[in-house]
Amino acid sequence: MEEINCDVLVVGAGPAGSVSALCCSRHGLNTVLIERNDTIGAHTSTRIDSSPDFGLTEIINELGLKTEDLVYNSKWHSPSGRSFTLHSKTGEYYFKRGPDPDSFECSTVNKAIKNGCKLFGGVIVEDITKDGGRFSGVTILQGAEKIVIKPKVIIAADGGNSIFHRYIDKRLVHNRVAYGVTGKDFIPSGTSEIYFDAELVPSGYFYIVTSLSGLSSAGIVLDSSRMQQSTVNYFHEYLNKNSKIADKLNPITNNFFGCGKIFDLATYCNENLLFVGDAAGLIDPFLGYGMMPAIISAYYASKFSINAINNQDRPLLNSYDTDIKSIFTKKLSYIYHKAFDSLNNEDFELIIEILERLQSKIDIDELLCQLDGG
Ligand SMILES: Cc1cc2nc3c(=O)[nH]c(=O)nc-3n(C[C@H](O)[C@H](O)[C@H](O)COP(=O)(O)OP(=O)(O)OC[C@H]3O[C@@H](n4cnc5c(N)ncnc54)[C@H](O)[C@@H]3O)c2cc1C
Repeated sequence: MEEINCDVLVVGAGPAGSVSALCCSRHGLNTVLIERNDTIGAHTSTRIDSSPDFGLTEIINELGLKTEDLVYNSKWHSPSGRSFTLHSKTGEYYFKRGPDPDSFECSTVNKAIKNGCKLFGGVIVEDITKDGGRFSGVTILQGAEKIVIKPKVIIAADGGNSIFHRYIDKRLVHNRVAYGVTGKDFIPSGTSEIYFDAELVPSGYFYIVTSLSGLSSAGIVLDSSRMQQSTVNYFHEYLNKNSKIADKLNPITNNFFGCGKIFDLATYCNENLLFVGDAAGLIDPFLGYGMMPAIISAYYASKFSINAINNQDRPLLNSYDTDIKSIFTKKLSYIYHKAFDSLNNEDFELIIEILERLQSKIDIDELLCQLDGG
């Protein structure tokens, strides 16, 4: 049985885990990354994920993370077809997700490996050992081989059903579900299209995005508590009633489906264990976005780990908990989500009409940024 001592063990090679592995290895930490699947990105079908900038640019530039595009225009449609285009100063990043070598997670993991990070793919976590409050070892199986990893710090980046949740209080808030398709040139690049309809898409929205390379995704995002049929049925029903939109979705190369679990963790830092990304429940309850929190929390967790390991002082990690709470858990998106939930189609018509009228009078992007504290 092999035994590996390391500074940081990152569990899960999605966006959050790959960024953690890159950041830690880049700063000279002896980093081990373990992934359940044989292939990086295999847990997600190829698709475009969008995410508002909100602090991403610096991290993307510092770590050289791969993005498809930074888009400043977003066209919002009412149920009757009225529309309003938001010209944002903040911008929205597009990330290619999935198993292709140029996806966000694959390219980030490759960079981490070049920095000396050791990757173990296709692993099963067999055992986790604790020494007092501290996590002292993680035993993995890779094929027939058993390996014991003894890290100073563990970064849990293994998604919404993290194996480390059993050590912490977790309160589920709600689920955001999505279904969609990916293809080529659904719409011209440069503007995302968002469609609201409280009857066909209760408590959610339909979207189409196209990146500069032509890769496009279209999908429906819903709140599971409001659904009366499957997500796939909502998707097809929406297209059946909106044939002009359906005609745009051609050619289709694959589909994607999934659920984002939004929950509160009692703490994001437990002794030498830090939760990041979906494992920390950090998904925007309004839009269902998780890329921005995954990247930012992974970056912070890595910085705290580097600091704690270089100073040989684990309590330095504790501030991670306070920082993450102050960045993510007081966001206005929780309030937006509640207000959004109560809107009917008449309200959507009115809102889009008001936004259209306001646009010639005030800077709406500035107003939205101020409301979000940005
Ligand atoms: C259909 C859909 C559409 C979405 N669209 C958007 C969007 O447009 N914009 C946006 O910002 N967000 C979007 N999200 C949310 C976004 O995908 C997630 O927030 C993001 O993937 C979180 O990254 P993560 O690394 O924390 O977790 P994950 O992406 O879940 O990665 C976890 C990784 O850990 C691995 N793993 C799990 N368990 C173990 C284990 N025991 N041992 C080792 N490895 C393990 C998994 O295989 C995976 O590689 C969407 C989600 C879904 C489902």
